[in-house]
Amino acid sequence: MTDDVWGQIRQNLLKTVGKSNYTNWIEPLEFSTLDSGVATFHVPTNFMGNWVSRNFGDNIMQELTKSGQKVSRVEFSVPAGTSAQKPVTKKKATPIPTLAGNGGGDGDLPGAPLDSRYTFETFVVGKPNELAHAAAKRVAEGGVVTFNPLFLYGGVGLGKTHLMHAIAWELKKRSPELRVVYLSAEQFMYRFVQALRDKDMIAFKQLFRSVDVLMVDDVQFIARKDATQEEFFHTFNALVDQNKQIIISSDRAPTEIDGIEDRIVSRMQSGLVVDLHPTNYELRLGILQQKVDQFSAQFPNLHMDDGVLEFLAHRISTNVRVLEGALMRLFAFGSLVGREITMELTQDCLADVLRASDRKITVEEIQRKVSDHFNIRLSDLIGPKRVRTFARPRQIAMYLSKKMTSRSLPEIGRRFGGRDHTTVMHGVRKIEELKQKDSQIADDLELLRRSLEA
Ligand code: ADP
Ligand code: MG
Repeated sequence: MTDDVWGQIRQNLLKTVGKSNYTNWIEPLEFSTLDSGVATFHVPTNFMGNWVSRNFGDNIMQELTKSGQKVSRVEFSVPAGTSAQKPVTKKKATPIPTLAGNGGGDGDLPGAPLDSRYTFETFVVGKPNELAHAAAKRVAEGGVVTFNPLFLYGGVGLGKTHLMHAIAWELKKRSPELRVVYLSAEQFMYRFVQALRDKDMIAFKQLFRSVDVLMVDDVQFIARKDATQEEFFHTFNALVDQNKQIIISSDRAPTEIDGIEDRIVSRMQSGLVVDLHPTNYELRLGILQQKVDQFSAQFPNLHMDDGVLEFLAHRISTNVRVLEGALMRLFAFGSLVGREITMELTQDCLADVLRASDRKITVEEIQRKVSDHFNIRLSDLIGPKRVRTFARPRQIAMYLSKKMTSRSLPEIGRRFGGRDHTTVMHGVRKIEELKQKDSQIADDLELLRRSLEA
């Protein structure tokens, strides 16, 4: 690829990623080589390579492909002479795992590489994940197999993969001779299909049945893939019979995975099933604090204002991956423009993320919270009774509904037992008034608002 072609592609990228992203991330890239489908770009720092790979790798690949380049992968590397580490890669599709094994060493094992950042040391424990963490720790101690399989499940970005890698690292540390294999269900399928194609099933079976610990990530992937399921089932049984530990993860509970045979579901439930709950504020803050400690080493001169982390932990309540990405973007941005990370910079820099994770609060949620808070029944909050003990909380709930949702007064009225919009308006005004002179009401409102936003 000539510099001219890259110049043209950059112009197209300018359109797709926007001016400020372009200036910050695309312009500094220096095209290096295009060799056997791998396009390599030089970046000034590894951090930047990571960032570009994560956020713009797909865009770059798309534009390269559109312009007729034969590319299957984009790599970013720090040129020799600078503090070069391993190149950062964005792959086109899940690669068919090679026989490289987990993190090297085990030459003939069929696993995927382990991420060196995913260890127990870097896993922050909080109420939502303490059970899963404890179970993972227990399995990682090795020794007698107490529950088999360990089935971990939970939503996207809650730490399933992190925990599995942590188990693998720990097992390998304690017993280097153990044959520990980690791979995704998708990779399991690829290898299975490959073995079928190469008429090499015997070797495939031998390989998988010879491991000591098998971890299969995102097992929901095998739903409706009948032959793969069947093979997984046999592998599973063979290993359990030999008392080998199996660890499985999924984005939902075993019984909730549609398209998996009952006998497999019941097998998967026969050990210990634990779930990772959605994060809470404290856990998110803990994770952010830990990441800041990590980043600080990379950016010793960067200052972050008080309150920024708390703000992020409050506002980004989706998954941890999004949270990490946001923090990383802040650091990257702050260090590029050489400014300290203030609240204002945070809001500017993360406007899109913050918008996307703005949780939609519903009137029903508000009603539930308010009735809990005042210890009255939901039916009394919504119902016709006009005594003060019900009427005041009702007005507070109306006020919060007006302030925290996009519902109109008539819509709110309908949700409060079909009341007229003027009644709602009156309630909202009343609370606005009381808020100024009654500190108890002001406190109640603040508490409720915070708990709804958490
Ligand atoms: P999942 O596999 O459940 O989708 P991951 O394990 O890939 O989620 O986690 C997403 C990201 O969030 C990873 O970078 C991981 O390190 C991080 N993460 C999730 N939970 C925690 C935690 N409790 N402590 C530290 N990092 C976490
Ligand atoms: Mg995962």
